[in-house]
Formats: sequence, C-alpha cells, structure tokens
Amino acid sequence: MIFPNCGDKFHIIYGRGLLPGLTADLDHYLVVADGFVLSQFKEQLKNHYTAYTVKDVELATLKEDVKVYEGTEIVVAMGGGMAIDAGKWMAEHLGAKLYSIPTVLSVNAAWCYKSAIRVNNVVTYMGRIFPEKLFIDYDIIQGAPKYLNISGAGDLLACLTASYDWKLNDMVTREKPFSQEIYQGAQYLIGMLAENIDNIKEVNDNGIYFMCEAYGWIAENAAKMNHTMWESASEHLLFDTLEYVCGHGFLHGRIISLTVYFMSLFQENQHERVLSMLKRLGIDISLKTLEITEEQLREGLHIAKQFAVEHGIRYTIIQAKPMSEEWIHMAVEKYKKDFNIES
Ligand SMILES: [Zn+2]
Repeated sequence: MIFPNCGDKFHIIYGRGLLPGLTADLDHYLVVADGFVLSQFKEQLKNHYTAYTVKDVELATLKEDVKVYEGTEIVVAMGGGMAIDAGKWMAEHLGAKLYSIPTVLSVNAAWCYKSAIRVNNVVTYMGRIFPEKLFIDYDIIQGAPKYLNISGAGDLLACLTASYDWKLNDMVTREKPFSQEIYQGAQYLIGMLAENIDNIKEVNDNGIYFMCEAYGWIAENAAKMNHTMWESASEHLLFDTLEYVCGHGFLHGRIISLTVYFMSLFQENQHERVLSMLKRLGIDISLKTLEITEEQLREGLHIAKQFAVEHGIRYTIIQAKPMSEEWIHMAVEKYKKDFNIES
C-alpha cells in the first residue's frame, strides 16, 4: 500500500481480464459507456444488460435519456472521463449501485465524488457518489494511447503548487480548512511521483498502480475535507483563465503541466524540479500542441488575478503577489528556452 491510513471510500480491484468476473455477479444492469469502448468489450459482459452510449454530458441530455432506465439498480460506468461522469450522474439519479471501470488514466473522474456535468455547455460539478467497487484492468488501461495515460501525471503534479497555495491560503484568509497531515501527504505524493516517473512513462503495472492509489488518496481526503485545495489552486486557476482566453478546451493533464510550470516559477517553489519531472515524463506542453498562441499565454498570465477576483476564486499566490510585465516576459522566455520553442 503506497498511502497508509487512506480510508475506506474506495475499494479498488486491480487485475487483468476483470470484466467477465465482475459482470458474472450482476444481472439486469445498465452499462454506461463510450461507443468504441462498448464495441470493444461487449463480448466480455455477462448476463442481461442494457447499454447506453454516452453522447455528451450535458445535463439536459442526461435528464432526458435517463428516463427509460428508471428502476435500474446497478450501473456499470466504463470508459474515459465523460462516460464515467455520465455513469456517475445516472447511478446517483437512479439511486443505483455504481461500478466504475476507467479505461484510461488521463483524468480522475472515477475517483472524484462529484460528477463533471455541463449545464448549457459550462462544466458544473454536482452530486456526491462513491462506487461500490472500482476496477482497474491493466490490459484495458494499457490499451489506451500512452500519452493520454501519462498526461494524468500532470494533474498529480498540481499537488506541488496547490499545496503551497493551501498553506498560503491558511495563513492569510483561512477560507479552506488546513490539515498538516494532508499537506505532508501531498509532499509524499510528489516524492513518490518522482520515484515512479519511469513506470508512469512506460505505463507499466507499477505506474498504473501508483497513479490509481494517488488519485484514490486525493479523493479520500476530498471526501473528508469537502475541498481539494492541496491539488487544485493557482495552477487550476491559470488553466481556467487560459480556457477563457483561448475559447477552447485542453487535454487536462497537459494544460495543468504547463500551468504548474509557470506557477511553481511564480511561487519560487521547486521550479527546477518541476521542469525536470516534466521533461522526464515527456508531457508535450508546447504552445503548438496546446493550440495556444504566445500572445494568449501572456494574456492569460496578465489577467489571471483579475479573473480570480471576478470569479471569487480562493486566495492563492495569484492574489498574494503582484505579477509584473517584466516577470511575465522573463517567464515566457524561460519557458521557450526550456522547451526549445521558437517564436
Ligand atoms: Zn485537475
């Protein structure tokens, strides 16, 4: 066990070829899945089931589509973040038991007790549900594109900047309850992330196991504390700001890797370590891949504080320290040099 005293919200079953065994014990269940995941694995599902292919996670769609499944007692959510979130929402709505089978580790949707649902195309976190069991099938995860699995490590790296912000928040505003034990756990998580970089990069069993246990540790404590400030603070704020500036979404772990890079530099907090870890992980955070122009990046940094204040976002380094034009210039030039980006 990587994280001791982790709690008991998540019963994670690790293995291979888990689907027939899991579904042999279930009957008349609803499978909520991505279309391609369903076509790939439906032969392995046992007994009677109905399948729902996820179209989107818009609240209006789910509310309409769930109607025909009233009375369902078991939901099996299977796929990437969107399918898992749709499955969580449906299970909670139906009052059904939930079994989750993430097929890729790019997001922590299978662990997060809230469902990320869109209301008129705006992401809204709602509900509170925990799976009866969570199944991690190494073969299924390893069948997903490597870069998607590896990108999930970027969201774990967020603990480095977020936990710093959490301490700052506690000293200045006390908006979010602080726990020294969880703070130290976050430092331990970062250390173990560094230890596991080669495993994560290979997406081998140990790498998958580490990422799942880390997601589990974060989620257990989120359920306890009712917030997640040790893993989501100024770096997630800068991501929200960039999404606003650019008007499009990003692969989550990738954009968070970029924003951890900048926020660790701004915090003067283990920045070179972040750079080393990102390079070793090989997460592509180039402007080209992220589809951000240099101008948009500068704009995002420039308006992050204003964005935080306007949206009433919790106190972090962004509110605590003025960000000068000189600093933005220096930071963007450093980023371009560190990642060999030509302007
Ligand atoms: Zn995140």
